[in-house]
Amino acid sequence: MPSKYVIHTKQTDHRFEPLTKSGVIAWEEGCLKCPVCVKKECVYGVYEKRQLSPGQMIDSIDNKCQNCLRCVQNCPAQLIQKSINPEFMEMGDTHWTPDIIARLWYQGETGKIPVSGAGYPGPFSGPGFDSMWTDMSEIVRPTRDGIHGREYISTGVDIGSTPRNLLFDKEGRMVKNGSAILDIPLPVIMRVPDFGAISDNTIKGWISAAKRLETLLAIPVKRIMPDFLKLSGHIIPVISSTDIDGLNGDEHTRMVEYIWDENGLRNMAKLKELFPSALVSVRLNLKGEYQKEALKIIEAGCSIINLEGSYNGRAGDDASRYMKDTIREIHLLLVNEGLRDELTLLASGGFSMAEHVAKSILCGADAVYVDFPILIALECRMCRRCEKRLPCPVEIEKASINWVAARTINIMGAWHNQLLEVMGAMGIRDVRRLRGEVGRAMFFEELDENIFGSLNRIEEGFELD
Ligand code: SF4
Ligand code: SF4
Repeated sequence: MPSKYVIHTKQTDHRFEPLTKSGVIAWEEGCLKCPVCVKKECVYGVYEKRQLSPGQMIDSIDNKCQNCLRCVQNCPAQLIQKSINPEFMEMGDTHWTPDIIARLWYQGETGKIPVSGAGYPGPFSGPGFDSMWTDMSEIVRPTRDGIHGREYISTGVDIGSTPRNLLFDKEGRMVKNGSAILDIPLPVIMRVPDFGAISDNTIKGWISAAKRLETLLAIPVKRIMPDFLKLSGHIIPVISSTDIDGLNGDEHTRMVEYIWDENGLRNMAKLKELFPSALVSVRLNLKGEYQKEALKIIEAGCSIINLEGSYNGRAGDDASRYMKDTIREIHLLLVNEGLRDELTLLASGGFSMAEHVAKSILCGADAVYVDFPILIALECRMCRRCEKRLPCPVEIEKASINWVAARTINIMGAWHNQLLEVMGAMGIRDVRRLRGEVGRAMFFEELDENIFGSLNRIEEGFELD
């Protein structure tokens, strides 16, 4: 049994006061001057911590209130009210919602799993991954140890092409057949997001986290500084056609990614020369006839394909098509072609929650790329001011390497624990067995069609004239 993979997290405080969803507004007018004001009875000491007199009107939109509503309910003159913070509600967009951003901040700060199930008031289905429910039978009727029991749950995956069979020489020694494999203990590869107030120190912090987590960080090759190369074994240079001329190779790099285009075949051969020890992965944008392109890439001998979705978890130019459907489609295409076990399928674009890792794997991916969550873990508010070259409200570019690394390790630790929870609930002990196991999930669209699809459908021969 391999040594147990554990991500050690530690509380790493915010550098800026985080925005919170709601606050308390207390009005002074009409105050009955009770001998003991309810504000003094706040069990979390919110009013005390803010060092304000209970007699003052207070707008306490900060992160100290725990929303227990005790003060709101107990004020006899009903002078205390909760209010929604408009600044919080304006964060992000419809995909990177304020609630998702706040949960990612929490995971970056504490390394813990946010509790969201108790009293959940929201819908039970939604678009994309929200229309998938995973099997929880081991919680309802456990037959095995829990996730912290004696049995080891492996979250390790192999990247590259696994040989179909082992070969031995006459003396019984195993013969290497040229297949190269990279194993990482977490089915997550990190990558530098497309925007952000990102400095060299930010990237160094992420590389340092990748090293500690024993995974990799994908970086556009133009952003790789010479001093990053000390840890080139944890860096994936992302290379496009325009980067090829004058590109320097590196013998310690373990994986490179090429952004697929019409020059792909020629450039992949060049990359193999420049990076002799590296696996070459191809990033396939999910536009046009991407299914045919995927088969062409495999025919060219590539063993790793990264299905590149959009920033908001959609497949390329089709806003109605979600990553879960596209991953399933390509996975099944490869199964039907008898090619699935010869390559690694990665997926990227819009993964914003830990559960998306497990759900992507259930749909057929081997591992996923995570980009914006590692930026949001650094307090990013997804305001996109940096894209307009305006100052970042939380000065991410000034954060120290150690702080960036600690927050990144925290979020990955929280995601790792959530993956263990999901797998433990299913009774699956190896993440590689989760791949494509759609029998362990339910899809809302399919259930809806199976149960209600025939309503109002008139069978042939039963039409009314
Ligand atoms: S809602 Fe609860 S936690 Fe918040 S200030 Fe009032 S008593 Fe304190
Ligand atoms: S907080 Fe805004 S400006 Fe700063 S990195 Fe995030 S999106 Fe960019």
